[in-house]
Amino acid sequence: MAVLFMGELEHKYEVEIKLTEKRQKLPDSVKDEMKQSGMMDEKGKLKLKGVSPKMLKKMKLEYVDCPVLNDKIQFIQCFVCPNFQSRVMGKVLCKGEPLN
Ligand code: SF4
Repeated sequence: MAVLFMGELEHKYEVEIKLTEKRQKLPDSVKDEMKQSGMMDEKGKLKLKGVSPKMLKKMKLEYVDCPVLNDKIQFIQCFVCPNFQSRVMGKVLCKGEPLN
């Protein structure tokens, strides 16, 4: 696996990943998109490549204050966002392009 360093990737934002105590729900629109792209099955079970169930459990408690959407976004949504580049030392490297 390649090791990536912050400076090597072109990104606009470094967004801190924060922890919440409560498990968060993904918005239905995000779920639909994830189903369409095969990242979630019909029952709503996540199927993310290379992400273990243990990691997934942790990811469900994480969120970012997204600078593009100007909202609190569950990390899983951020992880599958077209702007997501990498996760380095508790931060998301985000391309910062406008999203619809
Ligand atoms: S990758 Fe997407 S969801 Fe995550 S911070 Fe950037 S724009 Fe927001």
